[in-house]
Amino acid sequence: MTDAGEALAREVRACAQEFAAQEIAPHAGEWDRKQHMPREIIGRLGELGFLAGPLPTSVGGRGWNNEVFVGVYEEIGQACSSVRGFLAVHTGLVSQCLHDLATEKQKSRWLPPLATGEWIGCYALTEPEAGSDIGNIATSAVRAGDDWVLNGSKIWITNGGIADLAIVFARTGPGEGRKGLSAFVVELPTDGWHARPLGATPLGHRASNHVRLDFEDVRVPDNQRLGEVGGGFGVALAGLNHGRLGVAAGAVGIARACLAAALTHARERRQFGQRIGDFQMVQADIADMSVETEAAAALVARVARAADRDDPQIGRLTSSAKLFATEVAQRCADKAVLLLGNRGYGDDHPVERYYRDVQGLRIYEGTNHIHRLVVARALIGRP
Ligand SMILES: Cc1cc2nc3c(=O)[nH]c(=O)nc-3n(C[C@H](O)[C@H](O)[C@H](O)COP(=O)(O)OP(=O)(O)OC[C@H]3O[C@@H](n4cnc5c(N)ncnc54)[C@H](O)[C@@H]3O)c2cc1C
Repeated sequence: MTDAGEALAREVRACAQEFAAQEIAPHAGEWDRKQHMPREIIGRLGELGFLAGPLPTSVGGRGWNNEVFVGVYEEIGQACSSVRGFLAVHTGLVSQCLHDLATEKQKSRWLPPLATGEWIGCYALTEPEAGSDIGNIATSAVRAGDDWVLNGSKIWITNGGIADLAIVFARTGPGEGRKGLSAFVVELPTDGWHARPLGATPLGHRASNHVRLDFEDVRVPDNQRLGEVGGGFGVALAGLNHGRLGVAAGAVGIARACLAAALTHARERRQFGQRIGDFQMVQADIADMSVETEAAAALVARVARAADRDDPQIGRLTSSAKLFATEVAQRCADKAVLLLGNRGYGDDHPVERYYRDVQGLRIYEGTNHIHRLVVARALIGRP
């Protein structure tokens, strides 16, 4: 990065850090308990330029590269995975995906309101029978004159109940599996679109809006198709490559927050007449947390640079970062709960929330099993 680039990265990170410390962290526990994040926080993300940080200024963005923007995900991820998750979906899966693949006319209609937060975006891929196996998507889109008619259901859709715009993946045929998928942008509200409760209390990300979506003859004009008919799988991956980098950076934030909590406690808590941080077993845990967090942060930065130069290996690299950083965050959260003893077990301390939230990062945007497959197949080649 140039000197100017480094200065920008420091400035943007400092802004995100202050915002997260003052406007998110003090409320994150309460939002988690209430299972709700106030709309004002989305407005603030827009005012600070975070909702469209990596988009060009011509559509209301800030023109930051990935190396700069991962600092925003990391700082917000330290405070609250629900807010960071909102951002990774809205900006990574939706806005950056639209920027990559939409026509100029489509971009000029959708990106400016997404940039400010006037519109909220969601990304509807997962179905009851199609999680890792996207090729099993059953939602159908049938051509009817100038429109397509969508029928089917999606589950676990982040922002789905508050969205003004959705990227929906549906089967248009005639291709089998992934080849028969196409992507559509649905403007909301619209007839036949139903956002319904999941019917379960999530383990983590409780302040997020996760819903089931049911489509009953939802009409979408053909000019709201994103990409080619049959090109839906490529659209899905384009969005995921952006979102997964945000998840990886958010995981570094969780790991840093867990390390900070463990360090504070190791210095303050005394047992057997000394600081618990003076016990070698506690020191080993703290050293491991620190080393792994540094390694995850370095990998995320390397992959962000690779994304900035359109590295042809970006799929493998993004999977590597998402896999490694989320597993590091999980180990750090696990150690932090143990080191804080009973304090780490109650919801009056954030490590309990990090411990729950991190499980989601290991599942969404491809489970970590799937990321191992992506990495191995990219290296070995398919049979
Ligand atoms: C908090 C949260 C937010 C989410 N937000 C969204 C969203 O905004 N939009 C959206 O579309 N979806 C979203 N999802 C859904 C998420 O992307 C899926 O849950 C995920 O892709 C996994 O699908 P599944 O849960 O059906 O698991 P399955 O695919 O049924 O997998 C079950 C288990 O089998 C393993 N497995 C499956 N296939 C293989 C294989 N080939 N090799 C090895 N192991 C395998 C998996 O790793 C997993 O451990 C969200 C999920 C969560 C938890």
